[in-house]
Amino acid sequence: MQDFSTIIIDFDSTLVQVESLEDLAAIALADAPDRAERVQAITDLTNQAMSGALRFDEALARRIPLLGARKEHISALVQVLNGKITPSLLQNLTWFQANRERLYVVSGGFREFIVPVMEPLGFKPEHIFANTFLFDEQGNITGADQTNFLSQEDGKTALLKHLNLPRPRLIIGDGFSDYQLRASGECEAFYVLTENVHRLKVVECADRVLTSFDALLQELPPAQS
Ligand SMILES: [Mg+2]
Repeated sequence: MQDFSTIIIDFDSTLVQVESLEDLAAIALADAPDRAERVQAITDLTNQAMSGALRFDEALARRIPLLGARKEHISALVQVLNGKITPSLLQNLTWFQANRERLYVVSGGFREFIVPVMEPLGFKPEHIFANTFLFDEQGNITGADQTNFLSQEDGKTALLKHLNLPRPRLIIGDGFSDYQLRASGECEAFYVLTENVHRLKVVECADRVLTSFDALLQELPPAQS
């Protein structure tokens, strides 16, 4: 059994049950006549990126214009995501809070909604790394800050190189970008979480399959001081 000094966890479909950009699209496009087509196009781009069929930066750049989202839609999204926290995370919150010093959230999603969802659960905001939105003067979301490591293809690897967190490191996630941290050597292990989504191509790359966070808690010792 190996213990880890740093545990990095993905957000979409890992800490929450959904892909948050799809929920943001559903909110922003509630009254749009072409809502179904645009949400489907966003879902398709997400799936292609998560399975490794499409570059992450290209998928992100193509999804944002489809969203049609504005600043005020973000607080509505936070409310929705609060109701879609992964069940085994909520069931084991005391373990996550006791381990907060070695826990990091690294996501290709956006800080503007991830921090308000995760901070009340006990995650440290300074341990949350994600993209940041760009807005125009009318409050429309126009893109992602391209100077952020996480807006780039394999940006999680570039970020981890930059942060130089203590080793050994574990990455837990559901997608191809999570596995890339293991492939690049930035993490010693990749555990795939299949509680919310099961991507065969990603599962095949994993060192372990977690059907829920319960399995992680059984493996790792209690809190480190
Ligand atoms: Mg994910």
